[in-house]
Amino acid sequence: MNNVMKFLACNSTVKVTCVNTIELVNKAKEIHGLSQLATKIFGEFLTIGAILGADLKDETDNLTLQVKSDYAQMTCVCKKGAKVKGYIQNEPVFENGTMYIIKDLGLKDPYMGITNIENGDIVNSFVKYYAKSEQIPTVLSAGVVFDENNNVKQAGGYMIQLMPDATEDVIDLIEENIKNTETMTQMLDKNMSLMQTAKSLTKDEDILTMIADIKNEYVCDCSKTKMINGIATLSKDEIQNIINENKDIETVCHFCNKKYIIKVEELKHI
Ligand SMILES: [Zn+2]
Repeated sequence: MNNVMKFLACNSTVKVTCVNTIELVNKAKEIHGLSQLATKIFGEFLTIGAILGADLKDETDNLTLQVKSDYAQMTCVCKKGAKVKGYIQNEPVFENGTMYIIKDLGLKDPYMGITNIENGDIVNSFVKYYAKSEQIPTVLSAGVVFDENNNVKQAGGYMIQLMPDATEDVIDLIEENIKNTETMTQMLDKNMSLMQTAKSLTKDEDILTMIADIKNEYVCDCSKTKMINGIATLSKDEIQNIINENKDIETVCHFCNKKYIIKVEELKHI
């Protein structure tokens, strides 16, 4: 089933991306052993990542979102095709937190933006930042809801962007619709297709499908070589100390919890 779709609405002046992220959120919950609160906050964060990752063009493009407070931290790395991975430290409390947006599109220097998290609301803080930095009026929504047994019942989100030629009438119409339309998780709960959700958000029955072949997924691209490269960033003395101890070392990938055993022999070449 398609779980990411992009549409053009209102005479191609409005771009809509709709995602269903239930599999992604469940996988993140399972990998990281998350509480209900962490599943909600981290799941919504990864949902934003899946929406933005759907816009990346090249295999080597990387978009990293990071939220930090004195107490907690979350990271989401997005790749082309809405492939995301992430990690979370401590229960997510982000009052007075800061969000970092790092875009590496293979240019000389990656782009980095920083924004404060207002009232602990990650989605809204990001939207404000996005509207300012990209100068595109954007509405972003992400939600994760649970059933009575605390299992993830629905997860998903949408992004609506107004093109420069959107008229005032269209802007008013979209604003009004969003206020009066159900949330993405409510619509998904009614078994609405992503196309039906986009029609409901724009009140446009003649929307055009732009992209329908992307599937958001939790994908980790770690490897033993990457782990060894990570160790290579330590100082020479630190690496020598590890070699002197002459014991195999075990490293764990933060993103997927996969364990790697690295033999001392393998460190001697770095
Ligand atoms: Zn991994």
